[in-house]
Order: sequence, then structure tokens, then C-alpha cells
Amino acid sequence: MSVKVKVHFENHSQIIHEILTEAKTEVCIAVAWINFKVYLGLFEKLISSNIKLRIICSDCNANRSHQIQIDWLIGKGAKIKLLKMPNGRNHMHHKFAVVDDDTLINGSFNWSPNATKSFENLTVIKNCPNEARKFKEEFERLLKVKTASIKALQKVNKCKQKGCGGELFNILVFSEKYSKYYELTGDLVRVCNSCEEYSRVKEDIVNNQLPILLQSYNGAADEYEEDVLYGLIADQLSGYMNKKETVHAIGRVATGLDGFDNDYIQTNILWKNVFVGTRLPDCFEDKSFDVFYDNSYTL
Ligand SMILES: [Zn+2]
Repeated sequence: MSVKVKVHFENHSQIIHEILTEAKTEVCIAVAWINFKVYLGLFEKLISSNIKLRIICSDCNANRSHQIQIDWLIGKGAKIKLLKMPNGRNHMHHKFAVVDDDTLINGSFNWSPNATKSFENLTVIKNCPNEARKFKEEFERLLKVKTASIKALQKVNKCKQKGCGGELFNILVFSEKYSKYYELTGDLVRVCNSCEEYSRVKEDIVNNQLPILLQSYNGAADEYEEDVLYGLIADQLSGYMNKKETVHAIGRVATGLDGFDNDYIQTNILWKNVFVGTRLPDCFEDKSFDVFYDNSYTL
């Protein structure tokens, strides 16, 4: 059979449904962003027809917001991997699917509602076992990628205080004030999320990239930009700890007056690694972890 190629500039979602519904044995999907709510019915149909379904997508907030659907599909037998590249410059931005080792869907289209608003392309190639094999090799490579690094990101130690049961997080806490070179100085502190316990891991860490990255990250225009900035921040942090442990979050001391003219001090969490989630609060009230570097500039 000869190779058949079709390029689509609209109705992408419908095309995907059509092609995947024709699957007979296996579907491998590597797409950065997938709206699992929209594709749930299709994925369910594949699984119940005994078609092997494997999915790799980016580990970001957008995909994690469908965690219920993801867990449900995994429970039904799908293999789904949310992939966060530990190195920020190696993003999972693929958008391809391999069907039955001989059909390929590839293009710029993310399988998410946002993608329908922009100009995207989708190419469907049928009867192309050689190309399909190459894409499948890439798929298998992604499945294996950096499991060790991801384990390090997920690792959290238990608090040793009697009866606490809390978890210890490594937080790079910057002081409130900038130096005149727009640098921030901070300490790496290990903080319990349950009791008052904390200890100092590293002191006097100076960084002039993170302040800028953090500002952009917290004002990111969309998920894509957020994802890229997340990676750049993670890169900056990678040098501060070893292979087995990671910096879980970045915080910054803030002081001021509250509504009743009383002084307050707190540490705001500005960035968290994706595995931490709500286990770490967004703000530590009445706490500075004794991070005070007086650079005499407040911006
Ligand atoms: Zn504790």
C-alpha cells in the first residue's frame, strides 16, 4: 500500500477522533498539552476495545488539572506519563501520535481547547511503517527518560521531631532587600510543614538571575510561558543541591504594616516544584527563618 498524506488546518479534534477510532491494536500519544476531559470518551472507547493506549504529556498545571480523568484512565488500563524534564531547555513539546505502527498524526496542534483558538496544522500519514517506527522509538525514549531525576524531585524527608509526622522541604529563602546590582541573597533552609522545626542547609547564596525569572514567572501570560520559565528557574536551582535532594521551593521574606499599623513579617513562597503542590503553604506567617541580608536597597 502506498503512503497517504493529508494536511489539515481546521477541525483538528474531529480528525484525531476519526483516525484514533480506526485503531486496531495500539495508540501511542506524545502531546505536550491534552484536555483529558474532551478526549475521555475517545480514550475510554479505545481501552474498552482492547486497544493498548499509552500517553506521554507535559507535567504542568494544565494537564494536572485533569488528574481525576488521568487516574481513572490509568485504572482502566491506560499508561499515562506526565513528563517534567528536569533540564529546563529540554521541553516535551511533541505533538504526535502513532496508530497501529503504520499511521502517524503529527503537527503543531496541542490536544487542548486553547489550541483551537490559534493557527495550527495537523498532518495525517497513513501506511508509513518506517516513519511510524522512528516516532515510536522517540516515544519509548521519552517513556524511559530521567526517571532518577524525577524521583529526586519527588523525594521529601520526614520531620524527626517526636510525634510531628510533618514533611521537610528545602526552601531557598531570599531576604527582602536587593543589592544595588539587583541581586538577592538568601539561605537554603529545611522547613517542616507541620511543626516549627527548621534548619539551615546553605548560607549566603547570591543570585541575580532568579529575581528576574521569578518576576516573569509570576506574571506569565500563558501555560507555555509559565512552563518555559519554570524550567529556567529549576535550572538555576539545580546547582544548589545534590543529585538525591532538590530545592522544593523559593521564598522571600516580606515585612510591612498590616491594617492595624502593626509590623508584620512573613515568607512568601514564589515558586514550587510541581510535586510539592499544597503540601507546602504559599505563605509562612510570622516567619523569616532568620534570613536578613541588609543590602540597603528595597525595590
Ligand atoms: Zn515537624
